[in-house]
Amino acid sequence: MIDNVQLNAEGKLKHFITIEGLSNMLLTEILDTAESFVGMTDQQIKKVPLLRGKTIVNLFFENSTRTRTTFELAAKRLSADVLSMSISTSSTSKGESLLDTIRNLEAMFVDMFVVRHGISGAAHFIAQHTAPHISVINAGDGQHAHPTQAMLDMFTIRQIKKDFTQLRVAIIGDILHSRVARSQIQALNILGAAEVRVIAPLTLLPAHVETLGVSVSHNLTEGLKDIDVIIMLRLQKERMTSALLPSESEYFKCFGLTESKLKIAKPDAIVMHPGPINRGVEIESKVADGPQSVILKQVSNGIAVRMAIMSMAMQPQGGV
Ligand code: ASP
Repeated sequence: MIDNVQLNAEGKLKHFITIEGLSNMLLTEILDTAESFVGMTDQQIKKVPLLRGKTIVNLFFENSTRTRTTFELAAKRLSADVLSMSISTSSTSKGESLLDTIRNLEAMFVDMFVVRHGISGAAHFIAQHTAPHISVINAGDGQHAHPTQAMLDMFTIRQIKKDFTQLRVAIIGDILHSRVARSQIQALNILGAAEVRVIAPLTLLPAHVETLGVSVSHNLTEGLKDIDVIIMLRLQKERMTSALLPSESEYFKCFGLTESKLKIAKPDAIVMHPGPINRGVEIESKVADGPQSVILKQVSNGIAVRMAIMSMAMQPQGGV
């Protein structure tokens, strides 16, 4: 369990590293704040001056498309100066340590780091070692957490379904390697979802998965019954160290979401995916592009939700 390095003495957000340990009130505050930014997107001038004069550095040690660009847009819409760095192609490949990279950026008077790293715990490590005025936002660390993704998913669910307490949510696929699933399960439980069900082959589930606060099914046809929200996950082949599946086509046959399987869930069920999607592996194109899919809505909502988290973490500390 992570210590609450994320909250300041007044219980306000300082860093955003994990959903674990946060309150329903704080998650709801993030969702409400994001709501106030959503309308901005269709305005002529899509900017607010909340973070004017602040410098945000996106430190991406792992690839990303959606997360990196929506963080960048969110920072720009808050009027911050933003710098995006792909570290795998720069100084660490010359042998510089993570802390030396951080120290050098601190020397440039940075106010916030947005960090994606392949190693679980990297963002927490940086938050513990960086200068006290700097906020750290976790943009995905190893298999551990992807809290801003989970919050944009919660925002999208609330936008459409309104009340978490009535909802049965299924998370389907590679739970074992998914930082997204871990953060979603925590958020859904904190927000009071009626049920969080994971549906996956045994080889793609962590040991003792029930202790995370989920029910478990190994059969998609049975598992989709009564479901309001379907969250599909990508097979994280880059994190698989051994063969956990017979083949992708076998996987699609058993766990791929097709139009006919979708009919088993509630008729108004929504289909979500954090992206990138692999068509024909975990999801059929007709479903991904179909009327129940909210996959692109998730991407759009990512901007408002990241604006909310960044602005909350950089509220003047000490009650100014
Ligand atoms: N984009 C998500 C992540 O960074 C999900 C994925 O890669 O499958 O974890």
